[in-house]
Amino acid sequence: MTDTYGNFLDGKWVKARTAFASINPADARDVIGMFASADTADVRRAIDAAAGALASWKSLSGFGRGEFLRKAADILQGRLEEVAQAMVRENGKTIAEARGETARGVALLRFYAAEGVRPCGEVIPSVNPRTFVYTTRVPLGVVSVITPWNFPVAIPIWKIAPALVYGNTVVFKPASATPHCGVLVAGLFEESGIPQGVINLVTGGGRDIGEELVRNPKVHGVTFTGSNSVGRRIGSWAAERGTKFQLEMGGKNPVIVMPDCDLEQAVTLTLRGAFGYAGQKCTATSRAIVLDSVYDSFVEKLVDKTRALKVGPGTDEGNFVPPVVSEEQQRSILAAIEKGKAEARLLCGGGVPSGEAYAHGFYVAPTIFTDVTADASLAQEEIFGPVLAIMRARNLDEAIALANQVRFGLSASIFTRDLNTVQEYAGRIEAGVVKVNSETAGIEPQVPFGGVKESSSHSREQGRAALEFFTSIRSVYIDRAGC
Ligand code: NDP
Repeated sequence: MTDTYGNFLDGKWVKARTAFASINPADARDVIGMFASADTADVRRAIDAAAGALASWKSLSGFGRGEFLRKAADILQGRLEEVAQAMVRENGKTIAEARGETARGVALLRFYAAEGVRPCGEVIPSVNPRTFVYTTRVPLGVVSVITPWNFPVAIPIWKIAPALVYGNTVVFKPASATPHCGVLVAGLFEESGIPQGVINLVTGGGRDIGEELVRNPKVHGVTFTGSNSVGRRIGSWAAERGTKFQLEMGGKNPVIVMPDCDLEQAVTLTLRGAFGYAGQKCTATSRAIVLDSVYDSFVEKLVDKTRALKVGPGTDEGNFVPPVVSEEQQRSILAAIEKGKAEARLLCGGGVPSGEAYAHGFYVAPTIFTDVTADASLAQEEIFGPVLAIMRARNLDEAIALANQVRFGLSASIFTRDLNTVQEYAGRIEAGVVKVNSETAGIEPQVPFGGVKESSSHSREQGRAALEFFTSIRSVYIDRAGC
């Protein structure tokens, strides 16, 4: 029998009137469960519960709030394999990626548990000798957390954990492709014994309930990761009411391959960045800008290695390229590939791999295009699939210009041994995450993360940077009594 899950409202799991199915991308016949299709009334109930819980939650010490995160970390650590397997079944990623993501969730919970006792203000000398001035941080209030499907455990945790520890209460809406992972994340906090109403979960279509999550007058912060089109709408709704918002969105991340690089390393890490997790990371490599003198040898080695990659279900540890998350996503990637065929030269992949093994899942073969021009859709549009565009540059200047000639600016990498080249690139590349001799993907939880240009609304997530978004500065002036 198929399991049915409700919304988590004010400390209770509540069934909704209608439900939707979540299915396994490696085998669409496998139904994971039925999940609540929340409506506006459910969202209001969640927001009211979060507003009701706010006063007592923010009156706890930061240490006290951190205790619940510590407990959630221990629970997740104890359940790492179970959560990772559930993630593979619902999202499709490889088991190695899923274990890594779950471990990241544990690390994030531990980092933010400790935030409860880290400094959060400064003493500022007053011009008046009788006045003591200091700043402190206060929570925003109720925060809506809207997340994508691609890191269905880590992204929610890297938003929810700092929101909570800094004294906010939360309404969490996971992507409709990964509601089960959302239920598992909410369940961690429930089991930690967190007071009712402090965290609430609503599942269901963003198109139906997103507006209420942003525009409800009791919401004072919105943190979102997802596509640019949805992010832009959320940003304008939030701006209308003066609600603080944070948007992390798309990327078109380049690697630059210089003639003096370690070519094997450049090939291996480009391949990993482009095709690992079927290219569904916002920091995945989608463009390789290669200097003339190494172009042919780089392309030849890359294509050879790509042809040898194993495509298949994420449960099999030998597979490198898992299915993409949904039929809709598969269709959109295949359409981008078809468009690309008219723009550039296809070197490998270019469609769905053939064979019975792929008949019931949403697979796309790792695909490489070469001779891609700067204005081609392959070089400009985020595809969010296993597709790499290779471009040629005559020198570093031209390579950096090509790298920057997109509307996004999330991550970038360069392969070189030359320190002057590194300095030049690090100074001029337009990206929030700048790597050298490394994959464009892969970030550490204690380090600020976010993009520039259209990739972001320019605040940062993770590490101590989260304090900036999830709190406001309060400036306190204390004078002595009496004149
Ligand atoms: P979407 O923008 O479609 O969805 C993200 C979230 O927003 C989902 O929970 C979705 O709900 C919700 N949503 C959809 N419509 C609305 C609406 N009108 N109002 C409010 N919420 C809404 O993105 P995807 O989930 O498809 O994720 C892929 C995109 O996310 C890629 O473009 C990728 O680059 C970006 N991304 C960026 C990252 C970063 O840190 N920069 C990290 C990961 C992904 P529902 O699922 O129900 O539609």
